[in-house]
Amino acid sequence: MQTPAKKQDIRKLSLEEIQDFFVSIGEKPFRAKQVYEWLWKKSAKDFDQMTNISLSIRELLKERFEIKHIKVDQMQRSADGTIKNAVKLHDDLIVESVLIPTETRITACISSQVGCSLDCNFCATARLKRMRNLSADEIYDQVVAIKEEGELYFDRPLTNIVYMGMGEPLLNYKNVLESIEKITSPEGLGMSPRRITLSTVGIPKMIKQLADDEVRFNLAVSLHSAIDETRTRMMPINEKSNLAELAESLQYWYSKTKRKLTFEYVVWKNINDDEKHARALAKYCGKVASKVNIIEYNPIDDGEFQQADPASLDMYKRILEEKGIVVNVRRSRGKDIDAACGQLANKS
Ligand code: SAH
Repeated sequence: MQTPAKKQDIRKLSLEEIQDFFVSIGEKPFRAKQVYEWLWKKSAKDFDQMTNISLSIRELLKERFEIKHIKVDQMQRSADGTIKNAVKLHDDLIVESVLIPTETRITACISSQVGCSLDCNFCATARLKRMRNLSADEIYDQVVAIKEEGELYFDRPLTNIVYMGMGEPLLNYKNVLESIEKITSPEGLGMSPRRITLSTVGIPKMIKQLADDEVRFNLAVSLHSAIDETRTRMMPINEKSNLAELAESLQYWYSKTKRKLTFEYVVWKNINDDEKHARALAKYCGKVASKVNIIEYNPIDDGEFQQADPASLDMYKRILEEKGIVVNVRRSRGKDIDAACGQLANKS
């Protein structure tokens, strides 16, 4: 018996390659555009959804190709409306993504790697070792799944995307940029890059690369301390590339893009909740065009790290505002389902 030929994942093909396929079977090349639209813009999960393609062509497509979509394996809803998806990839690995609803926004928080290699010692994902990078379509599919949930459960469109889920997006540079290309392209979701934010631990070489590539999305950097000694203790990456090197890359980013970036910052009790740290942050912000988001700490185990008192947050706010720096204090969402910042770790 002949073993059936392995089907090719059609979404790995470019529009031109699909065109070549149609020409090779004696069909009109414009069919390729229709199929491409179904695959990306309309996120078809099955060839039978492609109703403007004839049945015989659909059968042919089914024989030769498959559509490898991610599957939302488990969905949890928080009391505050946040939805967490455990997403199963085609090799059965799992990543998590989150839908965050607010009055004005539906935000998708998506993952870029399975696990993470960075070892930030306050982050749940860091406890999983990095298994692999996600492909561009696996990243894109997370966005589509959340877009569909926003429409179904909230009757509202997706408005924002943050690359703040599992993994370090700048260590999966090519696929992340390709996913953003698809999300923003008219053949994809047609979203504005201004509504997309990439969050990074801060890898100077890759930040310069972003600037050179003239990307048009927003950049957020997880700072957490503007004093090298403290930052290295929390984020080992800081030993390889320290704050001075990071600042230099961010100045380069600003010189090329003319866009302010956001520093993400957690204030922990007895770690960085004193005036010395707040003043160091204000000084650091003075070096790069930036604003600060103070995010709430979400405990991932018992005790080692604790959220600072409200008085310390007020002190930070005062010191930053005195220097004219814009600062927002953000409350966490979805804590009851482990969907908050830094909690994504796929307990299943
Ligand atoms: N690797 C990227 C994106 C993933 S983490 C980055 O480091 O930015 C997304 C954000 O959550 C980062 O700012 C990270 O520092 C923060 N974070 C990680 N663990 C956290 C926790 N337990 N509580 C609050 N924020 C956390």
